[in-house]
Amino acid sequence: MIPFLSLKDVTDMHSAELHEAVSRVVDSGWYLQGSEVARFEQDYAAYIGSPECVSCANGLDALIWIFRAYKELGLMQDGDEVIVPANTYIASILAITENHLVPVLVEPRKDTLEIDDSLIEERINSRTRAIFIVHLYGRCAYTERIGELCREYGLKLIEDNAQAHGCCWGGVRTGALGDAAGHSFYPGKNLGAFGDAGAVTCRDPQLAAAIRALANYGSQKKYVFRYCGRNSRMDEIQAAVLDVKLRFLDEDNDHRRRIAAYYYDHISNPLISLPERLDDSMNVYHLFPVFCERRNELQAYLKDRGVGTVIHYPIPPHKQECYSEWNGMSLPVTEWIHDCELSLPIGPALSLEDAAAIVDILNGFE
Ligand SMILES: *Cc1c(COP(=O)(O)O)cnc(C)c1O
Repeated sequence: MIPFLSLKDVTDMHSAELHEAVSRVVDSGWYLQGSEVARFEQDYAAYIGSPECVSCANGLDALIWIFRAYKELGLMQDGDEVIVPANTYIASILAITENHLVPVLVEPRKDTLEIDDSLIEERINSRTRAIFIVHLYGRCAYTERIGELCREYGLKLIEDNAQAHGCCWGGVRTGALGDAAGHSFYPGKNLGAFGDAGAVTCRDPQLAAAIRALANYGSQKKYVFRYCGRNSRMDEIQAAVLDVKLRFLDEDNDHRRRIAAYYYDHISNPLISLPERLDDSMNVYHLFPVFCERRNELQAYLKDRGVGTVIHYPIPPHKQECYSEWNGMSLPVTEWIHDCELSLPIGPALSLEDAAAIVDILNGFE
């Protein structure tokens, strides 16, 4: 049996260091807002190449806080529009609607799976405030055109970097390409905690200060509340774990790239198509999506032969019950992705032998 992802195997790779980190926090008697969180924020900001890093409880909150802070600073208002890819995990869209902003769903490209930058300009109007890109599957979604549009129309560039820790564009890491970025450290992500955790990286120290307050009850000074915030803090154990795992992130991503290269070089089944192969620097292979018109059959076939897979994602946001007002929208590329996508096993602990076994089975599907 080859599971889709074994977190136990991932943890076992650095078991001694991780146990030491957790024990250090347990023995310290200090569990929130301490030195572990401060150190991780510093180390992660340096890794991303961003002047500011504010930790928080999870990736969804990180994205929510970015838009909320822009509202608190007077740069966005209820009803303002945010351009966002139609094919994303629901969290990207929830962060917009939770803030009473309006998501403007733009189709992705079928070959790159990322937002189609040729469809953005026609959707910009006087209410547009931001282009929100999602580096989905670990692939860099940024393009020169997107940067130009942001400059030309005075829009904020916001990144959802939940799936792309360590990814680069032209030597700059995703998470430092735009004005602000949300990061998730959900256990299964490339940089994953032992529970929920997230962070925002950004350029503007005022934005960072607002987010830091919002995630801590809206307080900048103890018992003085500037905003109606929430409790959305990262705890010391997660920070200690993440600081250990950050040291191995580049190595882990390189291993993912070796697995991906094997898949690209050896998957030869004409019933299965692969997305455009990017330069290694631009893909950290959080997932390895393949496409098949008979996707559900393929998934069952792999399962019968001991290979675990996951669909990312079976239903696009505009077809979800929570967004029933958009259920009638037609977004054919997005719908094709959701109908045909299947994610193969990939991760720092997957062996090349297992990848080879998966390819043999996959190539036998007919
Ligand atoms: C995981 C994920 C999130 C949300 O992160 P959580 O930590 O689970 O809240 C947001 N966006 C994308 C694209 C994700 O994959």
